[in-house]
Amino acid sequence: MIEIDGLQKSFGSNRVLDGISLRVPEGKVVCVIGPSGSGKSTLLRCVNGLESYEGGDVRVDGLRVDRTQKEIRAVRQRVCMVFQRFNLFGHRTALENVTEGPIYALGVAREAAEREGMALLAQVGLAGKEKSYPAQLSGGQQQRVAIARALAMKPRAVLFDEPTSALDPELVGEVLRVMRDLARGGMTMMVVTHEIGFAREVADHVVFMDRGKVVEEGPPAEVLVAPRAPRTQDFLRRVL
Ligand code: ADP
Ligand code: MG
Repeated sequence: MIEIDGLQKSFGSNRVLDGISLRVPEGKVVCVIGPSGSGKSTLLRCVNGLESYEGGDVRVDGLRVDRTQKEIRAVRQRVCMVFQRFNLFGHRTALENVTEGPIYALGVAREAAEREGMALLAQVGLAGKEKSYPAQLSGGQQQRVAIARALAMKPRAVLFDEPTSALDPELVGEVLRVMRDLARGGMTMMVVTHEIGFAREVADHVVFMDRGKVVEEGPPAEVLVAPRAPRTQDFLRRVL
């Protein structure tokens, strides 16, 4: 579903992605871990066309992601991103946040979008919160609205950029639970996270990045339990 080959990206003279290659097959979950500044967010942003790149190739569902092409809109409909800070519209209710995309970007009729939106909010455990505004919801609830909003676009894959790292510790579990259910339901997911327990349980494949390169990758039982590269060992010692 997601194919990245030799991806290179610089900001000025700062080479942020230095030949990244990885695959996210349909229905699989790939977790990306690595220290702050290693290029994880930039990698996700290249996958859904929020960022341009100089070298290599990114494909989603067979479509080349290239910000200069008009197909970028088609790519954005295939992959949705869930951010660390939920980025909800503050002056819209939970339900309006979820139905906005389908109504205005996909042209879905309001009634159908609302029916689907109610079902999605129920799916993320927020039945009854449809009319709440973001400020009336906890961080965990807001992040679950953001996940429902992403799903409302009927994406082929969802990208998560440290979706729980802005949350109070007691709210992390409810968001991870929704993500785990989504993974079990067969959603293709690329997840940047420091939640090693989640990665160990849910990921099919784990990628450890450092300074713009893939240092080590493999099944969670290898990369997270018995890492070979000293840099991976070092990183895991610090986050666990
Ligand atoms: P991570 O998500 O792993 O913490 P990022 O992808 O956010 O890493 O950042 C990787 C590097 O790219 C950092 O050195 C960061 O300062 C730099 N960077 C990210 N975005 C920009 C930008 N828009 N302009 C300039 N430098 C950037
Ligand atoms: Mg980041």
